[in-house]
Amino acid sequence: MSSSVVIVGGGVIGSSVAYFLRASDPTVQVTVIERDPTYARSSSALSAASIRQQFSTPLSVRMSLFGIEFLRSIGERLEVNGERPSIDLHEGGYLFLATAPGEATLRENHALQRELGADISLLDSAQLRARFAWLNTDDLAAGTFGESGEGWFDGYGLVQALRRKAQSLGARYVTTEVVGIGREGRRATTVRAANGETYACDVVVNAAGAWSRGIAAMLGIDIPVYARRRSIFNVSSPAKLERAPLLIDPTGVYFRPEGRTYICGTSPSADNDPDDLPLDEVDHALFDDVIWPTLAHRVPAFEALRVERCWSGYYEYNVLDQNAIIGSHPDLENCIFANGFSGHGLQQGPATGRGVSELILRGRYETIDLSPLDWTRVLEGRPIIEKNVV
Ligand SMILES: Cc1cc2nc3c(=O)[nH]c(=O)nc-3n(C[C@H](O)[C@H](O)[C@H](O)COP(=O)(O)OP(=O)(O)OC[C@H]3O[C@@H](n4cnc5c(N)ncnc54)[C@H](O)[C@@H]3O)c2cc1C
Repeated sequence: MSSSVVIVGGGVIGSSVAYFLRASDPTVQVTVIERDPTYARSSSALSAASIRQQFSTPLSVRMSLFGIEFLRSIGERLEVNGERPSIDLHEGGYLFLATAPGEATLRENHALQRELGADISLLDSAQLRARFAWLNTDDLAAGTFGESGEGWFDGYGLVQALRRKAQSLGARYVTTEVVGIGREGRRATTVRAANGETYACDVVVNAAGAWSRGIAAMLGIDIPVYARRRSIFNVSSPAKLERAPLLIDPTGVYFRPEGRTYICGTSPSADNDPDDLPLDEVDHALFDDVIWPTLAHRVPAFEALRVERCWSGYYEYNVLDQNAIIGSHPDLENCIFANGFSGHGLQQGPATGRGVSELILRGRYETIDLSPLDWTRVLEGRPIIEKNVV
């Protein structure tokens, strides 16, 4: 008998799992329960949709190296009936900047990234000035720049392409909300939905993003993932910045080109970052008090900026260590969690979908070993320290 997998949430994570499952084994029955096919509040549709290898942990670098390989070949991989999706991938590079106190860490991270095959250059302040004439380097000691393999793309387009391909391979998407999960001992047996249906399952995947805590609670599991609002500001400027990358200022403020305009943002301070803030509001004070002054310091031509539009989405924020929790919980045999990506889930979507499908179909990872991200560290309170959280 073929097994039946029910995936809760059809954003980048749920749709990537669905795609890899059906692409690897056409006999496995896959049902994705997604309450909103427009993805109006889903993080995958509201993100800055960028990909980098400039992390400080080997696993994150490896996941994003597969991510870029997947995005580059998305046309062939996710073609449906002769139509090749395009996600408008721009490999414009990330530019991480450091002042003197951050230089040693930047160099360490760079050595690791190069060792793992990422195409990142280390630049001193004179080299930074030479390559980015519009940059204020007065207080900078060094920077690292992604020569290739890093950039930005259409995140909503990626989800739609994964979803469409998964459906073409036989995954079933149902538009309804999961309201309960039946559990017998160490197994989830049924998924109950608001449409009145009950879905029998051999395996359940929690891919509910910022709402995964509620799904875990239905199983009696406490997952340390909370909805933390992050705002993005789309600004126009008369400044023309030659070859502008995705720039990460030492303060954490970032910007990148978006067509002829720019998008920018930053995370609020830890003491002003409550859970579940409304998504129909934006933190304008953060722009006025932190983002704009920082940008105008770093890029003097940004003294003149106009906010064209802005929006908010949720980071599915793992309060332990801002890294994903992927795998099954020791109290449950047949539930896989893929939650808590905390700001880098879009780029980790392909590696996660492939890894979770391996776990379900073969009981182990066959490509990238994602086991460092399993529940063990969460239950033992041993965070994985990622120094480059944005
Ligand atoms: C402002 C911002 C900027 C970001 N920038 C980047 C970036 O540059 N690069 C990057 O890699 N990542 C970025 N991220 C993070 C990235 O967007 C997320 O990590 C990723 O999209 C998470 O995908 P997901 O599928 O888990 O969640 P989602 O896309 O939110 O999908 C979860 C889905 O579950 C559904 N759902 C929830 N509960 C239920 C239920 N009970 N029943 C049925 N359906 C349910 C929801 O409707 C939703 O569609 C950013 C996020 C934000 C908010």
